[in-house]
Amino acid sequence: MDALRNVLTRLEKEGAALGHFNVADLVFLKAVFAAAVEIRVPVLVGASEGERDFFGTRQLAAVVNSLREDSDAFVFLNADHTHSLLKAVEAAKAGFDAIVVDFSGLPFEENVSSTKEAVEAIKTINAAILVEGEIGDIGTGSQIHNSVQSEPRALTTPEEAKQFVQSTGVDILAPSVGNMHGMVRSMVQGKTRKRLDIGRITRIKKAAQVFLTLHGGSGTNDEDFQKSIAAGINIIHINTELRVAWRRSLETSLDEEPNQVVPYKILRPVVDSVEEVVRSRLKLFNARRSIEAMFPSNAK
Ligand SMILES: [Zn+2]
Repeated sequence: MDALRNVLTRLEKEGAALGHFNVADLVFLKAVFAAAVEIRVPVLVGASEGERDFFGTRQLAAVVNSLREDSDAFVFLNADHTHSLLKAVEAAKAGFDAIVVDFSGLPFEENVSSTKEAVEAIKTINAAILVEGEIGDIGTGSQIHNSVQSEPRALTTPEEAKQFVQSTGVDILAPSVGNMHGMVRSMVQGKTRKRLDIGRITRIKKAAQVFLTLHGGSGTNDEDFQKSIAAGINIIHINTELRVAWRRSLETSLDEEPNQVVPYKILRPVVDSVEEVVRSRLKLFNARRSIEAMFPSNAK
């Protein structure tokens, strides 16, 4: 019981964060499980409402359960960005370990009341499910954007973070701290990187005293990732980077053998490409952890 809470607590003590990777189909799921087995760290598999609609909410939970039974991987399942009570209840009943209820598009007070209602409904179904709420603007859509949004985004303040957590009872908070869903072209090309407001993360953590999730992690500066974990980030979402790897690899695979029609031959290298991204991110998010495991005397 409360296995995910225990894992998050342990990783925090070890200076690491749980990698969260979105899956839309079995190609992504196989890639994440393979990376988790290889790197030997816990991971969180996520599916947004769109991804759940495509995969099937109950079907995804069933496949994840089946993969868990057949591997040593420590994999948890998250219902990412859930915008209605109905969809939250559906995921809770399907056996998800965590649910992100996202009413961040509403005014603060309405976000609080809708999130609180969802927390109560979910905990009634299964008290062990961790519920995440969101405040502030981190954009929509894990895709390639043409330009950076021109008007400044509403960043989360420590005061509203504290008030939101206390009034809603969420276990996890998703703040807006310079992160953004999706990537602009220059990030996909590796020319620019997202930068995070580390001081703000530190202040939010101190005020809110809950687990924190960094959404929209794709294309973020590596050093900022490390600093954000030290400042209190517990979960990091990577989606667009996987989607970019998936598309590029699929195009290459199709181009290389124009007459190939066997799906598992076309898709094998695609699984490997997505797995490579997951593996490199897991190594980064768990970098301090492995150092401390090697030199336990340096542990806090
Ligand atoms: Zn997100």
